[in-house]
Amino acid sequence: MTHQLRLHHFEPASRANGPGMRSVLWLQGCTLGCPGCFNPLTHSRDGGSLCSTDEILARVLEQRGRIEGITISGGEPLQQAAPLAALLRAVKQAAALSVVLFTGFTWTEVNRLPGGAEVLANVDVLLAGRYDATKRVASGLLGSSNKSVHFLTPRYTQADLDRVPEAEIIIQPDGEMRFSGIEPLRW
Ligand code: SF4
Repeated sequence: MTHQLRLHHFEPASRANGPGMRSVLWLQGCTLGCPGCFNPLTHSRDGGSLCSTDEILARVLEQRGRIEGITISGGEPLQQAAPLAALLRAVKQAAALSVVLFTGFTWTEVNRLPGGAEVLANVDVLLAGRYDATKRVASGLLGSSNKSVHFLTPRYTQADLDRVPEAEIIIQPDGEMRFSGIEPLRW
């Protein structure tokens, strides 16, 4: 059965959002309100666009052979837990791709959320907790030091996260430049 996810942006191939080359999905919608949030355009639940999980799966599988996994960010992915769980299940069934998930919820909150366990069942690495601008670190995929990292499978280690570049510029076919990563360049 297909589900609908509200998507802010799909990046087919990125090196600054997890180990190796990855497709990245920024999901739309977040009510957690971290002061200093780096991505406020993802907050509105009316923004972005509704996409079926079948369509997103097809876009991910187009990159198979080029990517080693997908990264889910936001916005707050776990505020769309049911369709996200369905997507991750389908990705894992279709290909040997890894999954990295960023959430603003803490580890304890994730485990209490309806649908949280179903999402975690297909996640390799979870980065959890609110962004705290007073504890900014921008390394090892962590935006702030209060966040926690959870290796839910043996697929990756902290050394893999430490090797991820802090920033990247992706030049689109039409010449548009996209800035990405835990410490994106700005000018
Ligand atoms: S959880 Fe993420 S998207 Fe939501 S306000 Fe906090 S930093 Fe921003």
